[in-house]
Amino acid sequence: MASIYTVNEETLLNIAMVLGGEDGVRIIEVLNDRENITVEELTEVTEIQINNVRKLLYRFYNHSLVTNRRFRDKETGWFIFQWSLQPELVEAYVHSTKQKILKKLETRLDYELTHEFYHCGNPQCPNTTFEDAMETVFHCPSCEEPLHRVDNTPVVEFLEKKIAEIKEELET
Ligand SMILES: [Zn+2]
Repeated sequence: MASIYTVNEETLLNIAMVLGGEDGVRIIEVLNDRENITVEELTEVTEIQINNVRKLLYRFYNHSLVTNRRFRDKETGWFIFQWSLQPELVEAYVHSTKQKILKKLETRLDYELTHEFYHCGNPQCPNTTFEDAMETVFHCPSCEEPLHRVDNTPVVEFLEKKIAEIKEELET
């Protein structure tokens, strides 16, 4: 597959999989090879039902992965749509996805930094926040064993590392 696009092929196909499953991947693979292809041609090459091809193309269109151009057939007078990948917008989609992940990680980091966590040492039991631990007088709400302060430094460090990585990716 000769890709001229700025996002790598793996990322592109991952997005196609999320949005359109295996049929979606198949369509994006064809569009990665050929520009200006009609729904009929796509149906023939992929052997996916035409209604499904159309549905997936519009889903990709709504997520700015593909673009179309329209012109009138000189003989029949009907409009013909041709579809192509939209490389800059694929890049934009990846960018906005990374920004969403970054926001989630930052929210989680903030939560970790502003809360204290307690745990009984029982692997099946979840962590308890300071507020909840107060209510049970520092006994586990699940097994009633005494709670101990959890050192969340490894979690904080992991989150900080991930956030720095994504920020760097977004800047380049
Ligand atoms: Zn417990």
